[in-house]
Amino acid sequence: MRPFEYAHPETEAQAVELLNDHGGDTAILAGGTDLIGLMKQELLSPERVVDLQHVESMRGIAPTPDGVSIGALTTLEEIADSQLAVDYPSLLNVVDGHRSIQIQSMGTLGGDLCHLPNCWYFRNGYGLLATEDGESLVEEGDNRYHAILGANGPAKFVSASRFAPALIALGAQVRILGPGPEDEETVPLEYFYITPKTESQGVNVMKPGQFVSHVLLPSAVSRDAQLAKQSAAYEVLEIEGLDWPLAAAACSLEIDGGIVRDAKVVLGQVAPTPWVSHEAASAIIGRPLTEETADEAGRAAVASARALSKNEYKIWQAKTAVKRALLAAAGLPTGGL
Ligand SMILES: Cc1cc2nc3c(=O)[nH]c(=O)nc-3n(C[C@H](O)[C@H](O)[C@H](O)COP(=O)(O)OP(=O)(O)OC[C@H]3O[C@@H](n4cnc5c(N)ncnc54)[C@H](O)[C@@H]3O)c2cc1C
Repeated sequence: MRPFEYAHPETEAQAVELLNDHGGDTAILAGGTDLIGLMKQELLSPERVVDLQHVESMRGIAPTPDGVSIGALTTLEEIADSQLAVDYPSLLNVVDGHRSIQIQSMGTLGGDLCHLPNCWYFRNGYGLLATEDGESLVEEGDNRYHAILGANGPAKFVSASRFAPALIALGAQVRILGPGPEDEETVPLEYFYITPKTESQGVNVMKPGQFVSHVLLPSAVSRDAQLAKQSAAYEVLEIEGLDWPLAAAACSLEIDGGIVRDAKVVLGQVAPTPWVSHEAASAIIGRPLTEETADEAGRAAVASARALSKNEYKIWQAKTAVKRALLAAAGLPTGGL
């Protein structure tokens, strides 16, 4: 690991200043479960690390007039122990999928949302686009865990965040601070992620010197219809331990009189960004949610998927994840393909 300067602000304003009053590269440290590894491997070598752990205003969960605000430093464990787990069950599904007490107590929501891809070419120094001499290493290489949707361009990795699909389905926004002292913007999480076309573009809309301070969730009750939003997430995991999902899906539904009035379906771990499937939502809106309609939605979600040489299995897993997330949100048994 290269030497670096360590800064520990106590306020959001100090954090913005410390990230931006330095001429060189800076990096945000939250739980540190991923960043420290990236620095040890010298995949990232910031000159200054800004540790947000002492910024109290970025911790915990608080009600807002429209819903709830979750500090980016809130740990997975704090989410599981809160009212969020009751009102937004999809978030509890995601925490439960992290089968590691250590990660649940150290990993933060902001760290999950900003997690860099797990693509093994990226993690071995070949960059986000995983190229050598201008050629993609993924197309003909070991692409078992790469993207099946949205990967027609040079980026073939899958978005790492496990919370993003559930949060996007719930209509979350992120509050972004910096780089200027007064700069603050609120961005729908759905539009936070980008698929890079060049190595320098990154995986989200944040510019250097910016960070996520909070996630804002709308109320779990729909304002128009006064219906409770029903949500669930389903992750396909290869082992009964800490691992990254092979495919995932999350949804939020409004069901009235047995008919789906509104739906949002988002896939994870299958594309360079969380993947909103309007096709899956259209397949169930205006219809009762049954095993058959959930299955149709799953098929619609992957209709445009394109497998690489070694990951066709992900298409079937993604289809099943959508079906099971929908059935779980509706309180129905989730078994079967
Ligand atoms: C050995 C090991 C194995 C792991 N395996 C798995 C696994 O199999 N599956 C799994 O789901 N998780 C795994 N994790 C955990 C994963 O790293 C965490 O789940 C979590 O995503 C990271 O949260 P963090 O707060 O520790 O992030 P950090 O490591 O602090 O940060 C992660 C990234 O996000 C950036 N960042 C953090 N917070 C912000 C913010 N507020 N604004 C902007 N950028 C920010 C950082 O700069 C960094 O690039 C593993 C961790 C370890 C140590």
